[in-house]
Amino acid sequence: MRGLLLVLALLAGCRSEPAPRTYAPLAPGGRVHVLRSSSGATIVLELTASDFAVPDEELVRWCERAIAAIEAYFGRFPLDETRVTVSSRPGRRVLYGQASAGGIRVLVGKDAPRAALDRDWTLTHEMTHLALPTLAREHHWLEEGSATYVEPIARALAGQRTAEEVWREFTRDYAQGLPRDGDRGLDATSTWGRTYYGGALWCLLADVELRKRSANQVGLQQALARVVAQGGNAGEDWPIERVLALADGAAGGRVLLDLYAAHAHTPVATDLETLWKELGIVRRGRSVEFDDAAPLAAIRRAILEPPGPARGPAEVPGGPPAR
Ligand SMILES: [Zn+2]
Repeated sequence: MRGLLLVLALLAGCRSEPAPRTYAPLAPGGRVHVLRSSSGATIVLELTASDFAVPDEELVRWCERAIAAIEAYFGRFPLDETRVTVSSRPGRRVLYGQASAGGIRVLVGKDAPRAALDRDWTLTHEMTHLALPTLAREHHWLEEGSATYVEPIARALAGQRTAEEVWREFTRDYAQGLPRDGDRGLDATSTWGRTYYGGALWCLLADVELRKRSANQVGLQQALARVVAQGGNAGEDWPIERVLALADGAAGGRVLLDLYAAHAHTPVATDLETLWKELGIVRRGRSVEFDDAAPLAAIRRAILEPPGPARGPAEVPGGPPAR
């Protein structure tokens, strides 16, 4: 009997909490902060420099804000574990970022004050890259375009930016994504403007179209969250059709596949002024005002609103993420 109890005790011991994993710094003198996201992901933040003007806690808080924005948009952090390595360079703001399935590297100006970290978009942009499977080179516009489009919306959903700021930026910047002479469509034109803002504009058109077709219940947010929920992330190499078909499943049609086919090898000159007007965005000097009587005003509002519980027939398996 005593032997049996001992065996049971040992088995119980096997089921107890595993010893907490420790993460050694990869750089000499690096300081590691292990962050746990709301969805249970582990983000290993390594600060490799000791000459930052702000204390480590501010850099931890900056990283936590980016994680919160990503989770506000996608419903969870895209990878179970990732490493964010931060180095310093001369400067007063966040200078550079790069993301891959292996982790994120960021260069932060050593004299960057807390306010510069609060304004930073770079880390959220890089974390957005973790949420999309790696695509073939000709589809780089979707990788950069989705990160460019999602980042400000994610930060707004997390309460870090206002709707006015986001739409002011969009109306100011998106003309850079329009095709110029000689353009051969998004898959065949690798200029900076078409890659970043052409891709971002495609995402905005996709968002609006998904919402038109789903009585404003499903947008790009739910579509991209569905990809993440079903295992899509930067650690996967997927054909673009697989990503778009999975995302399309959120609304139950082929909005994204059809929009991709229309833009892949054809320069599509979107009438931006009409689009802003229909969304009810009125530019006044350097700011914007909203016209809630505009035909797509409800869609404009929904893009920057956290999704509520799904209602009615638009509820589909793998739909809006639970919050
Ligand atoms: Zn990027």
